[in-house]
Amino acid sequence: MEDLIQTLAKFGLYLDSYLTSLLADFLNQKKRIFIGYLAISAVMAVVFLCAWRGLGIRGAVGKVFDKKIFWSGSAKADYCIYAINRIISILISPYLIAQGVVTTFLFFQLSKQNVVGFLSLDHWPSILIITLYTLTYFFMDDLSKYFVHRCMHRWQFLWAFHKVHHSAETMTPITVYRVHPVESIIYGLRGSIVIGAVIGIFAYCFGIDNFSLATLLGVNLISFIFNVAGANLRHSHIEIAYWPWLEKIFISPAQHQLHHSIENKHFNKNYGAMLAVWDWLFGSLHFSETGEKLKFGLRPNEASATNIVQIYLRPFIDVYRLLKNSGKKLILLSNSLKFLARRVGED
Ligand SMILES: [Zn+2]
Ligand SMILES: [Zn+2]
Repeated sequence: MEDLIQTLAKFGLYLDSYLTSLLADFLNQKKRIFIGYLAISAVMAVVFLCAWRGLGIRGAVGKVFDKKIFWSGSAKADYCIYAINRIISILISPYLIAQGVVTTFLFFQLSKQNVVGFLSLDHWPSILIITLYTLTYFFMDDLSKYFVHRCMHRWQFLWAFHKVHHSAETMTPITVYRVHPVESIIYGLRGSIVIGAVIGIFAYCFGIDNFSLATLLGVNLISFIFNVAGANLRHSHIEIAYWPWLEKIFISPAQHQLHHSIENKHFNKNYGAMLAVWDWLFGSLHFSETGEKLKFGLRPNEASATNIVQIYLRPFIDVYRLLKNSGKKLILLSNSLKFLARRVGED
C-alpha cells in the first residue's frame, strides 16, 4: 500500500512538471510562442488587414482568430503533436550530443595548433567582439538551418520525416512544433555542431570569458527582433508580404506560407529560416504572390497520415520501403554487372 502511494505521488510530481513545461514556452521570452510575441503578431495582423485589405476592425479581428482555422482537424493535430513531443524530448534529450562536447573538442584542437595566439585577439574592444560573435552566430545558425531544410526536401529519407510538418492543412503559430521527433533530433545535432564550433573558435580566439551574445531582455538580440517583427505569422493564414527587394533579404510570412503550398511551382522554394539571401544565392527563392489563395498540405501524390499514430509511425514505414527499393535496385545492378562480366568473358 505504501509503495502504491509513493508511486502515485511520484506520478503526480511528473504530471505536474509536465503540465508546467507545456505552458513554459508561452511564458518564456526566449521562445517564439511567448505570449508577448503572439500578442504583437495578432496586433500586426489586425493592422495589416485594416490598412492593406480594407477590413473593418471587427472583420479583421474575426479573420485573425478564425475558429475554422484554430479548431480545424489539422490544428488539433498540431496541439496533440506539441504535447506528445514535449514528453519525447524529456525522454531523449539526455542522450543527445551536447554543444559543450563540440566546443571543448574544437577549443583543445585549436589550442594544440596555436594558430592565432600571437594576434592577441582578446585585446579587441568588447563591443567589436560582441558584434562579431552575434553576427557570426546568426549567419552560421541561419545558413546551417537553410542547408538542413534543403536536404529535408531533396533527400527522400529525410523528406519522409519532414512531410509531417508539411502535412498541416491549416496553419497556426503552433504548427512550428508540428515536427517529427527524428527531424527535431537532426536539427538539434545541427545546432550542437554549428553553434558548438562557433563558440569553440571564439573561445580560442578571444578567450573563454571575453565574448557573449548581444541581448535584449535576456534574449539574443536578433531572435528578439525576429520574434517582435511577427515571426509567428509565418505559420498563419495572414499573408503579409514584403517589398520584392526586402524578400531577397528576409523571408516574409507570405514566402514561408508559399513554402507550404501544394502547387508544383511552389515546391522546393523558400527554405530560409530568417534570411532569404541563401534562397536567392542558391536558386530556391520565390517571391510571395499576393491575391493567390494558397492551399496548404501535401500534394495528392504524397500519401498523408490521417491520425496521430500514423503521423509518428508512417515515416519509419516510408523509410523501410525506400530501403527495400534501394536494396532491390542494388541486386538488379549487381545481377546486370555479373551478366555483363560473363558476356565479356565469353567474347
Ligand atoms: Zn519544408
Ligand atoms: Zn513551416
